Amino acid sequence: MSGPGDGLERCKPKYRVLFEPVKIGPVTAPNRFYQVPHASGMTEANPRVRAAFRAMKAEGGWGVVSTGAVSTHPSCDDSPLPFGRLWDDNDVRAHALMTDAVHAHGALAAIEIWHGGGSVMNRTSRIAPYAPSGIPWQATHVGFMGNHRPRAMTKQDIRDVVRWQAAAARRARSAGFDIVYVYAGMGYLGYQFLLEEYNQRSDEYGGSVENRARFVRELLETTKKAVGAECAVALRISLEELRKRPSDHYASQGHEVVALMADLPDLWDVKMDSSPTDCGASRFRPEASHEATIDFVKTMTDRPVVGVGRFTSPDTMVSQVKRGVLDLIGGARPGIADPFLPNKIREGREDDIRECIGCNICISSWHDGVPVRCTQNPTAGEEWRRGWHPERIPPAGSDDAVLIVGGGPAGLEAGLSLARRGYPVTIADAREELGGRLVFETRLPGLNAWGRVVDYRLNALKQMDNVALYPGSELGADDLLAMEHAHIVIATGARWTRRLYSSLEIPVAPLERSGVYTPDDIAAGVVPEGPVLVFDFDNYYLGGLLAEYLSDHFADRGLKVHYATPAGHASAWTIMTNELPFVHQALAERGIGVTTLALLKDMAGGEARLEHIFTGQMMPIEANSVVIVGHREARDGLYHELMAREGEFADAGIKSAERIGDALAPGAIVHAVHSGHLYARNLDSDAPDAFLRDIPIAEHPPGPAYEEE
Ligand code: ADP
Ligand code: SF4
Repeated sequence: MSGPGDGLERCKPKYRVLFEPVKIGPVTAPNRFYQVPHASGMTEANPRVRAAFRAMKAEGGWGVVSTGAVSTHPSCDDSPLPFGRLWDDNDVRAHALMTDAVHAHGALAAIEIWHGGGSVMNRTSRIAPYAPSGIPWQATHVGFMGNHRPRAMTKQDIRDVVRWQAAAARRARSAGFDIVYVYAGMGYLGYQFLLEEYNQRSDEYGGSVENRARFVRELLETTKKAVGAECAVALRISLEELRKRPSDHYASQGHEVVALMADLPDLWDVKMDSSPTDCGASRFRPEASHEATIDFVKTMTDRPVVGVGRFTSPDTMVSQVKRGVLDLIGGARPGIADPFLPNKIREGREDDIRECIGCNICISSWHDGVPVRCTQNPTAGEEWRRGWHPERIPPAGSDDAVLIVGGGPAGLEAGLSLARRGYPVTIADAREELGGRLVFETRLPGLNAWGRVVDYRLNALKQMDNVALYPGSELGADDLLAMEHAHIVIATGARWTRRLYSSLEIPVAPLERSGVYTPDDIAAGVVPEGPVLVFDFDNYYLGGLLAEYLSDHFADRGLKVHYATPAGHASAWTIMTNELPFVHQALAERGIGVTTLALLKDMAGGEARLEHIFTGQMMPIEANSVVIVGHREARDGLYHELMAREGEFADAGIKSAERIGDALAPGAIVHAVHSGHLYARNLDSDAPDAFLRDIPIAEHPPGPAYEEE
């Protein structure tokens, strides 16, 4: 029921259930929107950036806002990957910035206390890593690979880790957290104890499921004892593997573990086991894909359950609650893409949600070791250092009209943000359909959801009075000089080249032969003569996807497609976005052969000449066409043509002309959107491009790496 003053007057009745409070042990979440722990790439090195990033979600209506993984002790040191720490009082102060900021908006703050066990390499602390039986996690991601195997933990080691958990929990309470986690997921220490492959102990911590769960139970008990009166204690657990394993008394070992600890935690936070399955890209994983793994948990516990599934549809969220799958709607990516998702549902504005597209660029930021970036939300990570708010933007600094040439991601984002500031905006694009590169790319297998980048912006632009859209309008320099706009923004994108590279990674001449194409040709409708070789050294999604597309699209013509790359994997960079295993599966399912470590030297006589990048051995492939997915260059001819006539600007009333997006520097869509947003924020700004540099909080002089309590 909603009533006056509860803020739900404009919320659609069917969604009001999402705004019911949920009791979690001694605390109460104000609604069911729960930002689960997720990496932000912001460590104690950037405490203000981190606090503002998390607080924005609280402001946007998330009832609970969590940290990412926070290490209890230097024996859990994941460097160079970014991770949080709660090792001493300086760390407490850094985290308190976040809890204060989250509480200011009425939300609860949760902390994911974490020990990585044998999956961290302790590269900085140089402590021999900990694992139940000294068996390492086997990384397939080169960034995670290491050559330091963990120690087999003694009982004293176990007691130490449990003690560190309690000490970290007390520090978390001092920092103001309301919910404190025990982590038993994603290959980390608690999880390693649960799985018999890692845990081959013959003492009371190994053997039966009950014994293997003992370590996690002890972590829960010690945390409850330390802070359980004031803070809720949550258990985060991965159930993908455990659910597959038979149990003597239960439907699976997953069921058994949940039964053994059913009412011990105040909250169950349930998830998958590996980043690619847990945070699957939309290309390969639909919304709510975890349900089949975690749906049983609520039948076995009275405690509330939270889970994720890239939920952006309020109908799906309500269905999860009504069908008894989840009590709390967990969100990581949907809240990065739109921190105001809950408030928009509350206000009956769900059509305004900037839906996550499931591209996983946010995850790549963590793999890169930098603060989070988001394709859909250019303000993510910029809340403190640039003062960017996802829903508010300063008013226009003048009445100047702005003409944007190019309606791709950069042009549309610049146009929308400028229009929101109040500028009169014109967007012209040569093509009949706005969307730039996404017009074609969203037709590629699995990329449909990426259309949300265009839809969100175009829907908003079409409702604004100060915006004029001109599709089907190819503009030249004469047009720009005649159109009487004070600011010209060139967002004309980039083009793919036929350039190749040598084994020393030096650019060499383009391969100019008939039958050699680029993605632009395929997007323009060229049907290459088979067999086709897709030669990819762009390394992101497009090479693999074009191979899939050509194979699917021209299956009736029996078009044979092969994929080759100088990298070690197909679409090698997609390891950063959790897509790599599924790219290989998708190619294999279509019978597309993959040649790695190959350089393309030439194509002639029905053959592509591939050469092994290291050995120089020739590896010919039958091919009548080659699609080179390699290097892009800015399509900036119009910009240079215009700048050559700078002398005419004053008479034409032009005050500035700038390039944005791919026309400035070709990149992924995330770069184009950020570039467009940056332009819009900077126009008529006093301090264009300025941002604050965060520094660690250190009120105490340097002391021991870890303070014993
Ligand atoms: P970005 O990712 O930087 O937004 P895109 O390649 O996606 O770049 O979009 C660029 C858009 O610019 C395309 O839709 C293209 O049709 C358009 N465009 C390029 N040159 C012109 C021009 N001279 N006049 C109008 N539109 C243009
Ligand atoms: Fe979603 Fe992509 Fe943004 Fe991540 S980067 S939150 S996957 S839109």
